[in-house]
Amino acid sequence: MAYVITEACIDEVTQDCIDVCPVDCIHFDENLDRKLYIDPNECIDCSACEPACPVDAIFPDNKVPVALSEYVELDARWYKDPAAVRARIDELKPDAASNVA
Ligand code: SF4
Repeated sequence: MAYVITEACIDEVTQDCIDVCPVDCIHFDENLDRKLYIDPNECIDCSACEPACPVDAIFPDNKVPVALSEYVELDARWYKDPAAVRARIDELKPDAASNVA
């Protein structure tokens, strides 16, 4: 099991979870990413990040709401193919700044 960061993190990226994670398994590129990603191979399921998140974006992977289930795969895939995941995030939630006419 691992914890997963879902849609509510997009464009929030408060990083409170990073501050509390005891194994430093939450990452992002601050110049490129619109959300944070938990490494499922490093997460020790301590649950510290879940209550720390101010937008309730974090769930254990077996309790992610069905509508957000894709984020389980996206968090894991970011560690192998971050560009593909960034593109998918933009599809799921278009960047408001890029939609200005
Ligand atoms: Fe880090 Fe614990 Fe959250 Fe896993 S559950 S990402 S180890 S704070």
